[in-house]
Order: sequence, then C-alpha cells, then structure tokens
Amino acid sequence: MPVKPKRPCNRTGCNTLTTERFCREHQQIYRAEQDKHRGSSTQRGYDARWRKARRYYLKRHPLCVHCLQENVYAPADVVDHITPHRGEHELFWDEDNWQSLCTYHHNVKTAKEDGGFGN
Ligand SMILES: [Zn+2]
Ligand SMILES: [Zn+2]
Repeated sequence: MPVKPKRPCNRTGCNTLTTERFCREHQQIYRAEQDKHRGSSTQRGYDARWRKARRYYLKRHPLCVHCLQENVYAPADVVDHITPHRGEHELFWDEDNWQSLCTYHHNVKTAKEDGGFGN
C-alpha cells in the first residue's frame, strides 16, 4: 500500500498532519457543517425510508385526525410529527409522535409552529 503524504489540516490555524483534507477532528466538524447545508447521505437515506414508512402509516391511519375531531372524515395527505422532531432521530421515527393530517390542517399547524418559534 502506498503511503499518502501527510499535509497539515486544511482548517485555518490547525497544524495537525493528515492524509485527508482535514484532521480527524476537523473532518467531523466539516461534515457536520456540510450536512447542515444539504443534508447528509444518511439524511437522504432517510428520505426513501420515510416515504415508505409514511405511505404505510397513511394506509393504516387514512383519515386526518384534526378533521376527525370535528367529525369530518377527510383523507390524510401528510404524516405529521406531533412534537417537531428538529432532526432528532428518536422523535422522528417514533410512531407515537406521528399523526395523519390533511394538507389544510398540516399547513395550519406548520404556520403556527413557524410563527410561534420564529425559527
Ligand atoms: Zn484540524
Ligand atoms: Zn384535516
């Protein structure tokens, strides 16, 4: 195996020698920063899994729960997280934290959350 030449880490001010762009520590930080911008490969993997899970959930819970509370039987289009998951894995995949919503009620909830938390 050829040995790659070691160079200082690309991070400003860091002189740790590495064969990669960044030293191990800064590689992690760099990845985390990239993930924030475009979602990690793990995140993209989730998307496919989530689409499947969502479809399956909607099959079992086909009606909007908010409409049901008003005795309206409306088909749900969205699986909503009752407690916003904010990227938290556990919360995201916890089915107890899911609810079926119609587009209308999902929009109402999203608008409220965005306004309420100010992002
Ligand atoms: Zn470094
Ligand atoms: Zn509804």
